[in-house]
Amino acid sequence: KPVQFDRIVQESVNKMQMLAEVKDVILHAEVDPAVSMNADEERLHQLLVTVLDNAIKYTQEGGVVRVTCRKLAHSVHLEVEDTGIGIAPENLPHVFDRFYRGDKARSRQDGGTGLGLAIAKWIVERHGGKIRVESKLSMGTQVLISFPL
Ligand code: ATP
Repeated sequence: KPVQFDRIVQESVNKMQMLAEVKDVILHAEVDPAVSMNADEERLHQLLVTVLDNAIKYTQEGGVVRVTCRKLAHSVHLEVEDTGIGIAPENLPHVFDRFYRGDKARSRQDGGTGLGLAIAKWIVERHGGKIRVESKLSMGTQVLISFPL
């Protein structure tokens, strides 16, 4: 059913704002108004929270996470960009694998499962969309998602 995409993005950002503040990471959102698409609202919310959680988690204090949501003629583009630790080129092909976790992630105590991006990809594809990750080690990461309208 049609959901207000811009509202879901804003709600997810608001939800993650607290985590960003605690980590001293600046979380910015630039969202085009009045973007609606047929979607599973709960899943979209989960997708955004997962990607935002990673971006905040893998960004050092003083860093920036920027979310942009742009409506084009026949698609919606969602971008989550961070100035964090980045991903080494040899690890980039594996980030969507189930249970894959980077070295830094594995050695962390507050461990996740390595399922986050696998689930994110599943959700995007269920909506007919595409997701890809670009990254430069020590520079930051971009998660680029597009949905057809
Ligand atoms: P973690 O257990 O560390 O939370 P995860 O369970 O969230 O990982 P995924 O979300 O699937 O697992 O991410 C897989 C791996 O991709 C992470 O362990 C991390 O190494 C890397 N990764 C994902 N997002 C980012 C990001 N924004 N910046 C740097 N590395 C990232």
